[in-house]
Amino acid sequence: MHPRTGLPVVGMVGAGQLARMTHQAAIALGQSLRILAAHPDDGAALVAADVLIGEHTDLAALRKLAAGAEVVTFDHEHVPPEHLRALVAEGVTVHPGPDALIHAQDKQVMREKLAALAAPMPRWAPVASVDDVIRFGVPAVAKATRGGYDGRGVWMVDDPAQVQELLDAGTPLIVEERVPLVRELAAVVARSPFGQVAAWPVVETVQRDGINVEVIAPAPGLSEERAIEAQELAIRLAAELGVVGVLAVELFETADGILVNELAMRPHNSAHWTIEGSRTSQFEQHLRAVLDYPLGATGLTAPYVVMANLLGGDVTPPTPGMAAPSGAALRADASGDDGEHHHKPPAEMTLDERIHHMMAAEPGVKVHLYGKELRPGRKVGHVTALGDDLEDVLRRARRAVHWLREGEDS
Ligand code: ADP
Repeated sequence: MHPRTGLPVVGMVGAGQLARMTHQAAIALGQSLRILAAHPDDGAALVAADVLIGEHTDLAALRKLAAGAEVVTFDHEHVPPEHLRALVAEGVTVHPGPDALIHAQDKQVMREKLAALAAPMPRWAPVASVDDVIRFGVPAVAKATRGGYDGRGVWMVDDPAQVQELLDAGTPLIVEERVPLVRELAAVVARSPFGQVAAWPVVETVQRDGINVEVIAPAPGLSEERAIEAQELAIRLAAELGVVGVLAVELFETADGILVNELAMRPHNSAHWTIEGSRTSQFEQHLRAVLDYPLGATGLTAPYVVMANLLGGDVTPPTPGMAAPSGAALRADASGDDGEHHHKPPAEMTLDERIHHMMAAEPGVKVHLYGKELRPGRKVGHVTALGDDLEDVLRRARRAVHWLREGEDS
């Protein structure tokens, strides 16, 4: 407990946007979030008061994070299990614990466990040689068992020989059948040590190049039967695996039903929409769960909620000392432009200027930026739109992201 507030200190490993948004939730609950950041300019390290700089692979740094904290939890899944076991042996409360977390760290361990639990999933096999892939059959999907994210560590395999290079590089692999997916869904739940569980409505997640770009809550047109099946599956997995905190179950929907793609045991991109779109955000719920507080209500605050990710790409960072902005705008006005081009060409517009335009265009859309450098393909922020009419909500979210990305109306 924090000596001044008498309220919990939570240690979080990792300082990306998930830690940053968890910090926002911790503020409201009066808690102190202590963060282990690899770099002082990581998104959460920029905003939290109690930041340790260190590596998640360094047991001494993890011990410092844990000292005086009620619980240690995660913004990513990359902490070596043996370090977590050492902490637990020393009396540290770690949620999710190492025996649960391993299923989000290692895709082969996850597949083996899901098989034991008879959970629906793609046909799969471990891979030690090209022959294993020949026996399995192509087309297939090869996956690094550890360390992949945002589609890195996933390869579409049409010729078994393709995996030789991966095996030569020493990448431990599994293969999966290439599922004829109709779309992707996510069932996100939270579970507390007491055993309470809470489920948000099942959402549709839209990916481009293996990266999530959009989430629609609730998943449009999903039958109630299938939605309940997905929620019950996620709740069962949370209980069977002993998850404490948020569990996101990424699902494939096929013509025949649902299959588990993978598991994440932390706040997840597929539930960022809950900040404005649910009574309880996933970040608050994760804190409640790991601290064994009663969980919050998970109902929607509007009939439809759409979250769209802002990926770094073409956005121009502000250039110090360049006085172009106002001059350029004046010239446009003076040239008799009737307002059709009242904003500057996209290439000249800074992110800050794009935000002004986005807010003017879509005052009901909420923006979240993560304090990151705008590197291509990187998730640097997201927007959330809410409303009664799905088409309109989608249009508004996309328009807002288009403004932020391209510096022009869609
Ligand atoms: P990551 O760990 O990088 O998120 P995933 O296992 O979620 O990787 O795969 C990334 C994306 O690749 C998925 O969202 C899906 O679009 C596609 N994908 C993964 N596995 C399969 C599969 N077995 N069949 C078809 N598509 C797949």
